[in-house]
Amino acid sequence: MCLFCKIVNKEIPSNVILENDNFLAFHDINPKAPVHILAIPKIHVDSFNELNPELMSSMTEFIQDIAKEVKIDKSGYRVITNVGDNGGQEVKHLHFHVLGGARLKWGHFSDADPKNNL
Ligand code: 5GP
Ligand code: ZN
Repeated sequence: MCLFCKIVNKEIPSNVILENDNFLAFHDINPKAPVHILAIPKIHVDSFNELNPELMSSMTEFIQDIAKEVKIDKSGYRVITNVGDNGGQEVKHLHFHVLGGARLKWGHFSDADPKNNL
């Protein structure tokens, strides 16, 4: 079972923000911004490549609810999903990063590690 499936099953603890039957949102263990939340489907989906557009539809609403829940919906935020090697995906269970709480930097091509620029 993958790391995030274990988090869904509560085999690995996480700091949950929001949860419903289909999705879970929890704080990233290594935050890259004052607010850094991961939103995942409870079913295992490898990456955005395999994401069913119908599941994306309800995931959209879930991510919007996260932004409201942590009060970054008005100030602004960034939603990112890393896909595969060039995208820098480390955990092979689809997740959306929701980043906010400060003015975020931009520029993903200027460094060997794309995540240094978040
Ligand atoms: P990726 O690099 O795959 O786009 O993002 C994986 C994210 O998962 C990283 O930001 C990393 O900090 C986070 N992460 C890895 N292991 C854990 C964990 O055990 N708990 C939590 N809450 N986040 C994790
Ligand atoms: Zn999984």
